[in-house]
Amino acid sequence: MNTASAKATERPPRVFLETFGCQMNFLDSEIIRGRMLEKRFEFTETRDEADVICFNTCSVRDHAEERVRGRLRELRIHKERKPETVIAVLGCMAQREGETLLDRFAHVDLVCGTREFSRIGDYVDRIRDGSGPILALGESDQMPPRERVDLRARQHEAYVTIQRGCDRACTFCVVPRTRGPEVESSMDDVEDEVRRLVDDGVVDVTLLGQIVNAYGRKMGGRASLSRLLRRLDRIRGLRRLRFITSFPTLMTNDLMEAMRDCESVVSYTHLPVQSGSNSCLKRMARGYSADAYRRLVERLRKTVPDVELATDIIVGFCGETDEEFQATVDMMREIEFVQAFIFKYSNRPGTAADRVMPDDVPDAVKAERNQIILRVQEEIQQRRHRDMLGSVQEVLVEGPSKRRKEVLSGRTSAHRIVHFPGSEHLTGEIARVRITDCTPLTLSGELTEVA
Ligand code: SF4
Repeated sequence: MNTASAKATERPPRVFLETFGCQMNFLDSEIIRGRMLEKRFEFTETRDEADVICFNTCSVRDHAEERVRGRLRELRIHKERKPETVIAVLGCMAQREGETLLDRFAHVDLVCGTREFSRIGDYVDRIRDGSGPILALGESDQMPPRERVDLRARQHEAYVTIQRGCDRACTFCVVPRTRGPEVESSMDDVEDEVRRLVDDGVVDVTLLGQIVNAYGRKMGGRASLSRLLRRLDRIRGLRRLRFITSFPTLMTNDLMEAMRDCESVVSYTHLPVQSGSNSCLKRMARGYSADAYRRLVERLRKTVPDVELATDIIVGFCGETDEEFQATVDMMREIEFVQAFIFKYSNRPGTAADRVMPDDVPDAVKAERNQIILRVQEEIQQRRHRDMLGSVQEVLVEGPSKRRKEVLSGRTSAHRIVHFPGSEHLTGEIARVRITDCTPLTLSGELTEVA
């Protein structure tokens, strides 16, 4: 039985919030934080001090869900000791598992899906007033309210969600189930938000969407990502603008031209290929072939000559043969991505792959392929970083590095990490840095001037 019925004290209740998964989840956590601060909750970094323990979860891989299940198992004893503590599971795993979570973990009080975040403070209040467990999986077709701008992790950088959900059905992907169909913010709302952020000191904005270059298709031609970029590019003070994550077949000429023409739009795009094998791409239902992807990259590099590409790769997808895997390795060597996010396939309940394709690549083979691909990508990054030695890069300064206060840390427009000696007051500025050393993951150098 759930016993989160008594208010712990008269002081504001303290919330511990742990976030798993992608950048969109971290942004959702900022929304949750904003909503709860408005309801006069306070936040703590210490789970033992908390009156409300929240996990904002990810379902993309089983590993992320298993970590949350582990946390919930640990909390059984905590709840016995402090029965008034509210335990909440939020986000994708809540949406996917729903009531099963309440059945399996009787000490959980709130299961709140991806489209109910704006009401979280009310739900927690109701539970603290003795309502018993709440399951909130509402299917609103509206974008949730914009996040509070004063809650950013970094003063000069901000993420803005312009689109959520996905109407595609890649066979491995749980997102359409956990995030629902595509919904979009209007161009006016996005522009208002970016203007507010820039007025508040932000110089670097990332537009987020599960399938961000689909933006506008729900608005019947009244909006598109290329038009949005052109509008935002006119905002004075906005120095860097990027968008993630794109879907290859939706990379239009208009969008490439906007990337080329807009001064603030960085020459960087995250364009997941997932596999370099036609047969594997077909089983994944991606809707393009390996050659079509190559042609797209060629077109993009022709239109935006200095563009850098990041990608996602899945190794060990259902039925992946040695030849299919080799085709992926070949494609990586050929395209030379600036970053590659590599995932070992794990089947996700409710996906088409889980229903009709056996997850038949042994774990040891997945692990070996993962290592091979990581090594290939490391070689590529090391070589490309060496090619940059002696060059001068524009670096947006994020602040002192975590390990050495006298060293600043920042990023190039293609998201490469750069370290260089300098003073903290440069935080938020764009510095020109001559590259003098490198590893596969980072560059280091010396300041030449501030842009
Ligand atoms: S386009 Fe992306 S989010 Fe949509 S189903 Fe495919 S992998 Fe998932």
